[in-house]
Amino acid sequence: MKVSEIGEFGLIERLSKMAQQTADKHQDAWKQLVVGIGDDAAAYFSNNEIQLATVDSLVQNVHFSLSYMTWQELGWKSIAVNLSDIAAMGGFPRYALVSLGLPGNTEVENVIDLYRGMFDIAGKFGVALVGGDTVSSSFVFISVTIIGSAGVKNRNILKRSAAQPGDQIAVTNSLGTSAGGLEMLKNNLTFSPKLSKQLRQAHLTPNPRVSEGQLLVEKGVKCGMDISDGFIGDLTHICQESKVGAQINIDLVPVAPAVKKCFGQRALEMALTGGEDYELLFTANPLVMNKVKKAIQCPVTVIGKMMAEKAGKVTLVDITGKIINTKKTGWDHFIK
Ligand code: ADP
Ligand code: MG
Repeated sequence: MKVSEIGEFGLIERLSKMAQQTADKHQDAWKQLVVGIGDDAAAYFSNNEIQLATVDSLVQNVHFSLSYMTWQELGWKSIAVNLSDIAAMGGFPRYALVSLGLPGNTEVENVIDLYRGMFDIAGKFGVALVGGDTVSSSFVFISVTIIGSAGVKNRNILKRSAAQPGDQIAVTNSLGTSAGGLEMLKNNLTFSPKLSKQLRQAHLTPNPRVSEGQLLVEKGVKCGMDISDGFIGDLTHICQESKVGAQINIDLVPVAPAVKKCFGQRALEMALTGGEDYELLFTANPLVMNKVKKAIQCPVTVIGKMMAEKAGKVTLVDITGKIINTKKTGWDHFIK
């Protein structure tokens, strides 16, 4: 059987089962584990704290092309996507390790620019870059590991598995801008300078919602993740891990105004399935949700609810309650 037949997530499911079956639960490493494969970051106890660890890679011509982005932007993004996974747990990022693959004919100045981008964002979020690995490769790849903390032992973390029937489903800010940016860059589309800048920034230099994730935990939110592969696909992960169903009202989705302006009718689909917005998707009961809305700096929009029925599935409805069918849900690395 080929990887493309089961897809990225089918493959991860098998690997996760193997890890479960071969785990020696008496060993310290397993005893101290809070969250393993299946969430945005792994979480484990150490010295009365919960520690977080996550790794994500960017591969040339799969995740990015140097034809439309600078090395500095690439550096920023490679750290940003990992910080977003720490944000998705409500944690505090601390240390970064960078594994770098480069063709031998790469200009040194380009690599310096790459690290300028990395140090820019690392500095902004208080992350220390403390190591890595450099290897020769026929294409550029950057794999970043981030170690963080989720605070003391009894502090909550945002888990994909903690949604409850009756929870409201919300997202931070708006969706679709990154997908719009990718489309603009790939197809050389021209928009006004203001819109172009917004789309470009969203796709190439996203801002991970680290402080927002921490605030969610403080206000009592237990379930959350970041939107990296596409809203519907990502929410499906929450449904599967929490064994609940989700109903989304598509008329409430906060589609980014810039995307509406540039892509008209396609904007909603881009918001629902485009991915890489690195906003937070979370669920909470109405009481907790109100506390969040009062305290958080950025917009938060409730767009649906969790329910006991249709466990593992996302249902889309419009404002009249009519069910909307969609095949596309998001990005899978092997299923096109
Ligand atoms: P994210 O998009 O938040 O980075 P992914 O969808 O990439 O998360 O991964 C889902 C889960 O599967 C994560 O817990 C991740 O650590 C785990 N995972 C992904 N690939 C592998 C792998 N090759 N081996 C073990 N675990 C993996
Ligand atoms: Mg994630």
